[in-house]
Parts: sequence; C-alpha cells; structure tokens
Amino acid sequence: MSSDLNPSDTTPLHRETQAVRAAVARSQYGENSEALYLTSGYVQPSAEAAARRFNGDEDGFTYGRYGNPTVTSFEQRLAALEGAPACISTASGMSAILMMCLGLLKAGDHVLCSQSMFGSTIKLIGSDLAKFGVESSFVPQTDLSAWKGAVRANTRLLFAETPTNPLTDVCDIRALADLAHSSGALLAVDNCFATPALQRPMSLGADIVMHSGTKYLDGQGRVMAGALCASEALVNKTFLPVLKSGGMTLAPFNAWVVLKGLETLELRMRAQSAQALALAQWLEAHPAVARVFYPGLPSHQQHELALAQMGGLGGAVLSFEVKASDADQARQRAFHVLDAMQVLSLSTNLGDTKTLCAHPASTSHGRLTEVQRQAAGVRQGLIRVAVGLEHLDDIRADLDRGLSSL
Ligand SMILES: *Cc1c(COP(=O)(O)O)cnc(C)c1O
Repeated sequence: MSSDLNPSDTTPLHRETQAVRAAVARSQYGENSEALYLTSGYVQPSAEAAARRFNGDEDGFTYGRYGNPTVTSFEQRLAALEGAPACISTASGMSAILMMCLGLLKAGDHVLCSQSMFGSTIKLIGSDLAKFGVESSFVPQTDLSAWKGAVRANTRLLFAETPTNPLTDVCDIRALADLAHSSGALLAVDNCFATPALQRPMSLGADIVMHSGTKYLDGQGRVMAGALCASEALVNKTFLPVLKSGGMTLAPFNAWVVLKGLETLELRMRAQSAQALALAQWLEAHPAVARVFYPGLPSHQQHELALAQMGGLGGAVLSFEVKASDADQARQRAFHVLDAMQVLSLSTNLGDTKTLCAHPASTSHGRLTEVQRQAAGVRQGLIRVAVGLEHLDDIRADLDRGLSSL
C-alpha cells in the first residue's frame, strides 16, 4: 500500500483539503476512493516477520482487533483535522471514554468532570468506575472557581464537554487546560458538538480530544464510532494496550463510513450552524417559548467565549423550554410539541442531516436521579433540536404546529 499523504505531511494544507486528502492509502489498483478492507486476519510474509510484527518491532497488520488499514485511514484523517499527533478509534463514543479511563486511571485516582456532561458519561464515571475505586466529582460547567476548588492531590484527569448536551453550556478550554497542568493532571475534551470543523481543543491546550463519531463525523446517522486524539505516547503506550486486551475495536465498515463522512464535515457544520442560528432566533421570539439555549445567541451566558473558541459559529444543536406553570404541565407541553411534528424526527440521536428532536429529561437523561438531573439543569419542558439540512421554513413550520397550539 502506498500512502499519498500522512497527517504530518498535510499539516501545511488547509483543513478542507486535509478532510478529503489526508491519509489516502491506495492499494496496487490505484483506487481513487478509499478502499474498504473487510478482513479479520492478515497473512504474514514469514514467521520471522510475524514475530516482529506481534512484538511491535515492525509495522504490519496482525489481527483485526489490533488494527485495519481502513481504520488507520480514519484515525490519521481525524488526527489531521484535530491537529493531533495521533488518534485511536473505538466502536462507539462511550467505549472511547471507557478506553481513556481504563488507560489512565487506577483505584484511588480522582476524575473531575462537569456536572452537565452527557448522561452516559456521568453514569460510567460516577457509578461504574466507582466500583473499581476510582473517585469522581462533578462541578458546574461554567464555574472555574468550582473546578479549582474540587481539584485534589489524586486528581489525574479533568474531563469537560463543550458545548454540553443538551443545554449548550460552554467552558473555557484554555483555562481548564492550565488548571489541569498546574495540578499535574490531564485535560480531556469531548468535542462531539463542535467537531474539529469549529473547535480544535488541542490548540487550546487540551491533552486528549474525545469523539463520538456516531454524531457529526459520520453526519448522516448510519454507524457508531468513537475516537481519542492525543500524543503518540498516550495513544501507543496508554490507550492501544487497552484496545488490544479490551477489544472495543472500530469495525472496518464503520471506519470507512466515518472516513468518508469527514470529507463533508466542514460544509455540513457551517450549513447546519447557520440553520441553527436562524431557528434559535425564531424560537427566542416565539410566545410559547420560555427560553432558548444556543451559543450563537447574544443571550447565551458564554456567547463571547463560545464564538471565540468555535470559529465564530454556534454549532448545530440548540435547546428550548416551553412556557408552563409547573413541571407536569411542562412535560405534557413538550410531549405535545414533539408529537405534533410531521416532518422532523423524534429521535435521541444528533449529528444527522435530518433534524432530530428529543425530550432529554425522559430519554438521554432519564437514567439520572432527580438530583443529578436538576444539577444538569435538564428540566421537563426542555426540547433539544439537532438541526439538519431541511429547508428552514419547513423546520420552523413543523415545530410551530405544536407550539402555536399550546
Ligand atoms: C453521543 C455522545 C456520546 C457517546 O457516544 P456514542 O457513540 O453514542 O457511544 C458522548 N458524548 C456526547 C456529547 C455525545 O453526544
């Protein structure tokens, strides 16, 4: 196989070019579009070569759980877009977080997270890892002094998501990186919502960028995927051993889908962010809407920081609360708006060309206790909209069907 460009070669090129040109590995046939290698095993040229490859002394694929050429292409292209030295991919976003934690943490270590992170992330770190003696605390996302106050002598990892799901809270990546490093810890950033098209956390000091490739990297709602971008040392010495023994390997077909998804990431994120901004402005003026959460709106509490950190755009996800007198009515009204839709999808996913709407309190955040849910600010009247590529008039009309009949 010959590789046209590896990630370091493409560094001087623009991101749009890297998105379609980085990590093109052609076979002897010279195919222009990236090949999909469906194989679980590899034939070795000699017993000596096999021994060297298994020992890591020679490059070459050995077994599907450890690596695959299509998977490598995806990893190298994502690394190029994130401006990261290396990348390792996984079967889903959650398994990327599991790999990160298994690689970095041991019993007695402490993880510090935002309390408004993705529901399954809170569950994994707060409950599942606790069984193995890993300590954790969760602080208000936007309160830097709370992050500072919660750092302990055994804090090994700070983990933030920005903007958050579903309230689009933004945190200052540079400030958290400084805090982590002055405390002898690492900073990991879940970059699902912004993607490298808008935000590159490593350029702001983050040590690890975590992705759910299931979302905008694929962009068309087809496959599950996950990844960690980091230094060569972290990827090869800390995370790769966990992949080899833990087997949270990304399937080659899924890798091929997200690899091709990366080619249109920039275009999609720009178009979908523009639609989201227009929809947020319309919702903010709607009489049935109490509040809109969107980083691109001047009413957003970290509007300035968000635009500075996200290349002037707000991303494609917004949330809004319907007006209601109490929690029961709020839930009933949110359900009414969602059930009145005829075009948009009622779906807990995001990162699709189709607009997806969800009720976080009863779905993505349904497993949390009421106390955890309140702390995350996910109230019963909240609806999340992951804005897609339908015509804006049709998106507005579909939401207005329910909103104007409340
Ligand atoms: C979806 C999501 C995840 C988990 O990713 P999966 O691919 O579903 O495992 C983590 N973080 C955020 C912000 C997400 O939206």
